[in-house]
Amino acid sequence: MSAPKKLYIKTYGCQMNVYDSERMAESLGGQGYVETQSPDDADMILLNTCHIREKAAEKVYSELGRFKGLKAQKPDLKIGVAGCVAQAEGEEIMRRQPLVDLVVGPQSYHRLPEMEAKAGAGAKVLDTDFPEEDKFEKLARRPKAKRGPTAFLTVQEGCDKFCAFCVVPYTRGAEVSRPVDRVLREAEDLVERGVREITLLGQNVNAYHGAGPDGDMTLAQLIWELDKVEGLERIRFTTSHPNDMMDDLIEAHATCKKLMPYLHLPVQAGSDKILKRMNRSHTADSYLRLIERIRAARPDILISGDFIVGFPEETEEDFQATLDLVEEVTYGTAYSFKYSTRPGTPAAERAQVDPAEADDRLRRLQALLTRQQRQVQDSMVGREVGVLFEKAGRLPGQMVGKSDYLHAVHVADCDAQPGELRRVRIVSSGTNSLAGELIG
Ligand code: SF4
Repeated sequence: MSAPKKLYIKTYGCQMNVYDSERMAESLGGQGYVETQSPDDADMILLNTCHIREKAAEKVYSELGRFKGLKAQKPDLKIGVAGCVAQAEGEEIMRRQPLVDLVVGPQSYHRLPEMEAKAGAGAKVLDTDFPEEDKFEKLARRPKAKRGPTAFLTVQEGCDKFCAFCVVPYTRGAEVSRPVDRVLREAEDLVERGVREITLLGQNVNAYHGAGPDGDMTLAQLIWELDKVEGLERIRFTTSHPNDMMDDLIEAHATCKKLMPYLHLPVQAGSDKILKRMNRSHTADSYLRLIERIRAARPDILISGDFIVGFPEETEEDFQATLDLVEEVTYGTAYSFKYSTRPGTPAAERAQVDPAEADDRLRRLQALLTRQQRQVQDSMVGREVGVLFEKAGRLPGQMVGKSDYLHAVHVADCDAQPGELRRVRIVSSGTNSLAGELIG
C-alpha cells in the first residue's frame, strides 16, 4: 500500500474559514490525503485566506514566497490558494506567483478533488465560480473521521447587507441558506461522530431562511429542530446582524435550554453618523433597545461585539459615542480593529482618519473593553455553570472545557472525560480563563 499523501492547510480569519478548511481536508481525504502540521512534510499546501485585514493579498503573496525553496526541492509539491483572497484576486495570483498550482474560491471547494487531479497532471487550475450546485451536499459524501466535542456547522453564507467596509458580499456572494433537512442531517452525523456542541455559522447567520417542509424556516425554528437531536447538548450561532434579531430568536434565548447564553452581536460604532456612513442600517439607540429586550428575555446572557475605530470621517465626538455605547452595554468579550481600507469597498474612497489618532482611539477602546471583559469574567466567581470538557490541561489531572458563557474553565483533579458536560462551581478568575471545581 502506498503511503498517504500529506496535506498542510494554513487557515486565516474567521470560524467559517476553519469550517471550510475542515471540509477541504475531508474532501481531499477521499484522494488519499492525511493532514500534517508541517509544510515541510506536505505533498500539498493550501492557504485558506481571509480578505478582511489590511493588505491581505500582499500578506498571502509574501507567505507564498516562503514556499519557493520547498517547491524547488520537491517539484511535485502542489500549492493552492483558497478563501476570500483567492476569490478576490483570481488569476492574478498565478500571474504574480507562478509556483501556485490551484486557486479555489469559497463556493467551489467541493471541486477540489478534481482540481487536485488536474494539478497532479501538471495543469494550472482556477475555479472562482459561484456554482449552482450545493457544495455542502457534495462535500458531505466524503469519508468522515471521529470528531472532538465541539464543531462548526455552516448554515448560511454570503451577505446582502453591503456594509461600506466589508468585502464579504463581493467574495462570498449573495445570502444563501442551506435547507433545514441538510443541516439536521449534518448535525446528526456530527453527533454520531462525538460532537456535543454545535456552533451554527453564517456571515449573517440570523438572516437564515432555509427551506423547511412547510416553507422557509427562521434561525429560531432551525434551533428548535436541532434541539430535538438526541445527544446534542449545546447550540450556539454566529455572526448576527442587529436588524435580523427577530422576536422568535430572542424568545429562543429565553426558552431553549440547549441554546447557550452567549450572543455575538456586532455594532461596529456608537455614532449614528458613522453607522450611516457604514451603511449599517441601524442606530446606536435601536441597538441599545435591542440589547435591553434580549437581556429582558435572558438576563444572564453574555454579549460579545465587534468594533471598528477610525472609520473615514470619524471625529473625536463620534468616537466618544462608541465609548458611551460600550459603557452602556458592558461586553463580556469583543473584537476591535482600526479601520483599514479594503480595495473595492465604498469606504476605501473616503477621507481617512489620521493613523496616529486612530491608534490612540483603538488603545482607549481596547482598555475599556478589556476592563469590562475582566469584570464580567470575575463576576462568574462563586457561580455554578455547565462546562463541556474538551481536553486535558497542562497540569496532571487537570481538564479544560468551555462554560455556557464560552469562558475557558480549568478544573484540577478532574475525572470528567472529553465530551462530558458537568456542573462546575467557579472558584477563581485568571487573565483569560476561570478555575472551577466539579459539583457532585
Ligand atoms: S453584515 Fe457583516 S458580512 Fe454583511 S456586509 Fe456587513 S459586516 Fe459584511
